[in-house]
Amino acid sequence: MRLVLFGPPGAGKGTQSLLLKERFGLDVISTGNLIRAAINEGSTLGKKVEEHVHAGQLVPDDLVRDLANEAMAQHKFDRFILDGYPRTTRQAVWLMEFLDAYKSPLEAVISLQVSDDVIVDRLSNRRINRETGESYHLTYHPPPADVDPSLIVQRKDDAPESVKARLETYRRETHPVEMFFQQVGLLSPINGEGSVQDIFSRVLGSVERFSELELA
Ligand code: AMP
Repeated sequence: MRLVLFGPPGAGKGTQSLLLKERFGLDVISTGNLIRAAINEGSTLGKKVEEHVHAGQLVPDDLVRDLANEAMAQHKFDRFILDGYPRTTRQAVWLMEFLDAYKSPLEAVISLQVSDDVIVDRLSNRRINRETGESYHLTYHPPPADVDPSLIVQRKDDAPESVKARLETYRRETHPVEMFFQQVGLLSPINGEGSVQDIFSRVLGSVERFSELELA
């Protein structure tokens, strides 16, 4: 199974990817996580991209493509969910070409539809456990009392000025990718608002529609 989870920042791509991973044993390839790891390591790549990320801008296409392609190759081009890739039409074209070349075409793009108000609420209240990567919402899913509070941090790019820039970047560069996937017949839009479990039921409905045989 080869899936893309698509949507604006804060759409819930990471949360839903992890649930799909648990359910089907798929691996999650998150370009955002790969990029943050490179920044934290202080690698050459990390140094090159750090400013883009903190300013809420996209990292250059070719750098992200190399990261994503390497990760897909490590997973033998199958049984993965892409979270946060592709984010430009150029990346989308490269992705389709790359997977077609390995006779492992992309099967579906599940697009989480979420309004701007909900996105801003989710991102401004999002906190992360910097050791486990677990994600919380201060009101709806607060960090458990037994977790050391010093481990709970806010992502730098969840600060209000970065959120604004990320939403603008999404509208300008990433939203058109949805149209691209619609034209090639892979887009499966679902309502991304409501409880995590409700959204997951819709995601499952969508997965089952395109791969009934594989899941049987
Ligand atoms: P995310 O964790 O998916 O929200 O990604 C965090 C940041 O990493 C984004 O705001 C971008 O700066 C960068 N990034 C992640 N994926 C991509 C991508 N496919 N193309 C360009 N930049 C990306």
